[in-house]
Amino acid sequence: MPSRVSLIVVAAGRGVRLGAATPKQYLACAGRPLIAHTLQALAEARSYCAATVVIHQNDRALYEAAIAALPPAAAHAFGPPALGGDSRQRSVLAGLEAQAAAAPDIVLIHDGARLFPTAELVARAVEAAERFGAAVPGAPLGDTVKAIDAAGRIVATPERASLRAAQTPQAFRFPLILDAHRRAAAAGQTEMTDDGAVAAWAGHDTYVFEGDPRNIKVTTADDLNAAEGRLIEAAGDIRVGQGFDVHAFAPGDALWLAGVRIPFDKSLAGHSDADVCLHALADALYGALGDGDIGAHFPPSDPQWRGAASSVFLADAVARVRARGGMVAHLDATLICEAPKIGPHRETMRARIAEIAGLTIDRVGIKATTSEGLGFAGRGEGVACLANATIRLPRR
Ligand code: MG
Repeated sequence: MPSRVSLIVVAAGRGVRLGAATPKQYLACAGRPLIAHTLQALAEARSYCAATVVIHQNDRALYEAAIAALPPAAAHAFGPPALGGDSRQRSVLAGLEAQAAAAPDIVLIHDGARLFPTAELVARAVEAAERFGAAVPGAPLGDTVKAIDAAGRIVATPERASLRAAQTPQAFRFPLILDAHRRAAAAGQTEMTDDGAVAAWAGHDTYVFEGDPRNIKVTTADDLNAAEGRLIEAAGDIRVGQGFDVHAFAPGDALWLAGVRIPFDKSLAGHSDADVCLHALADALYGALGDGDIGAHFPPSDPQWRGAASSVFLADAVARVRARGGMVAHLDATLICEAPKIGPHRETMRARIAEIAGLTIDRVGIKATTSEGLGFAGRGEGVACLANATIRLPRR
């Protein structure tokens, strides 16, 4: 019978070494929170009987935003997050305890800031755990390593051929590592920096399997830039799509524009909430993908979309980009109307679009113009919106 494999992703750290206010695993990397890349790669590598991200209690909103930036299939792989402790080791134990009832055979434990785990690496990890019980991926060292004393004097030069840099995912038989972590915590041993060390402390032979030097952990600002460069280079097929939409005014006391409810002396008429801006942006994305338009994916003849929040349409278009392995580089819209005034709502609109699309706000533009009294917009009969979307798809 195949092993039941679970996954724990450790993401409770404060990322103090990077010096940013936001913990590093949530910093923007190629338009998405860094950890979203990690989670998507792991979710697409294989299926898990349980998958738990261990987060800091202050990071719930950041975590929700990261999950929202995943394609739905990847997002659904992860159960509720577990809350971590004040050390990596306590956080892993919290994740293991959260999965104890599921009783997996094998657990993979991965660092949230190590964002390039391949399916091949994950498969090697599972095989190693099945064979050895406790195993960590190791990469050969390029540099010669020196052991030094407090004064910086070299006291030893270990033979490089016998050294490996420990990475993740580390892989264990679940009962073995749960027991090892519980015993270490009970013994007051709480500062070990990887799970291989915990297994070894508990008396288990722990092995190294072939790691992946490209599966780097983001620790410094340079690492973050390098990771972003790799992601963008891999998604080098750049597409630009356009969208256009119009809705007429109708009696009412508010209207929806760019996912924001604006009190006004009219509303907009339409089958859904008639948000011209989100409709134009969704069509721009569908256009960039060459994948139909909003009417094809959400037929007005289908009663389930009556009165729908148009965020559903934009989120669907973004999910289709991510499902193709792509990323949204930029969304830009121009609203055309005599009223209401857009300026006071511009930043709220940008933030809402960024939230729906799982983007950072710097990748969203909103402009507005009147049509100088000309045409239907000029006569105050409705609102029009022009939009562009720039996406990056994997090179084929
Ligand atoms: Mg429309």
